[in-house]
Amino acid sequence: MSRMVEVSIDLDNLRHNYRLAKHMAGNAEVWVVGKSDAYGHGLQHVAHALCDADGFALLDMDDALALRQGGFDQTILLMAGPSHERELAEASVKRISIVIRNREQLDMLRHARLKQPVSVWVKVRSNINRFGFDPAAVPGIVDALRDQAGVRLQGLLMHFAQADDLAVELDTQWHAFRNLAAELGLRFSAANSAAMLRDTKTHGQAIRLGTALYGNNPFVGAAAHDNLAGFRPVMKMTARLTDIVPLSAGAPLGYGATFRADKAMRVGIVACGYGDGYPNKATTGTPVLIRGQRTRILGDVAMNVMFIDLTTVSDAQTGDWVILFGDDKLRIDEVAHYAGQRPESIQCAIGGKHRTRILERGTWPCHP
Ligand SMILES: *Cc1c(COP(=O)(O)O)cnc(C)c1O
Repeated sequence: MSRMVEVSIDLDNLRHNYRLAKHMAGNAEVWVVGKSDAYGHGLQHVAHALCDADGFALLDMDDALALRQGGFDQTILLMAGPSHERELAEASVKRISIVIRNREQLDMLRHARLKQPVSVWVKVRSNINRFGFDPAAVPGIVDALRDQAGVRLQGLLMHFAQADDLAVELDTQWHAFRNLAAELGLRFSAANSAAMLRDTKTHGQAIRLGTALYGNNPFVGAAAHDNLAGFRPVMKMTARLTDIVPLSAGAPLGYGATFRADKAMRVGIVACGYGDGYPNKATTGTPVLIRGQRTRILGDVAMNVMFIDLTTVSDAQTGDWVILFGDDKLRIDEVAHYAGQRPESIQCAIGGKHRTRILERGTWPCHP
């Protein structure tokens, strides 16, 4: 047996998800959020498949420059803004839009001698309370930017802290921001995946679409939302079944003996663990698929090994591929729920660890 773990990225499903979001967005633009190497999916692959997207929202200047140099001509937004003067100068030359979210960046912009104008989004602090200007300070900042040569003011930007919790009302989380944008006569970008799905009023000028684009349920506890129907899984993880061993009644299994058989069982050993990026908190009960049948993990996940219950999967054989997630019958959301983490945190942990198989059935009108 050669390969033990396989991670594949389905670019057709990714494109399908983007089109679905575009359909929901109406007149709003949909920007592909590509931070952390596109949530572990590989920014270059994602950008290639979504070459005709309205825009890309990134954190690293290097990623932004790589896309520009690769021939991507659409909006590219640096979500954290420039971290020093050279980045600001590069942004203006390469037509990379920037977020301004603190006084240091504002001063940098004020004193810059830019060869070409730079497009600016002003970040307003929300109840996430990390970045952005206090709403009370924003009108003064906006006035100054409107008068400043070399600045093309695009609008106001905010990020939701709790759009992903359906138990928390959405409207109160952003009504002050919305009023501010209306008072100042500015366009805005507010929505992430969860807000996009919940309320079209959040769509504004541009939606910054991350987790749902990658086929994940953005809602806390994987709560159901009608608008999620139709989004397809993009990353799929499978691993080989290497051994089948009997376990007698009462016998412990694995490190820490966190599982004990209550009857005689057949146990499968799968060559994948937390060292491969699979969440180590996904313990007994987490579902897996083998031979089209659903079964469960037993005990704790080790570094490169996990155990599954084959007691009722009589036709399983060593060498079989076991689907860990990324199938219509087993979405990553379920695994994430068992592990008590977000699906994208699993994808980020897996990203870059494996040689990925890129599935690309369709063709699309890509320029680069
Ligand atoms: C990551 C991020 C997003 C995307 O959020 P999702 O919930 O993954 O859709 C949008 N805006 C900002 C500022 C972000 O950092």
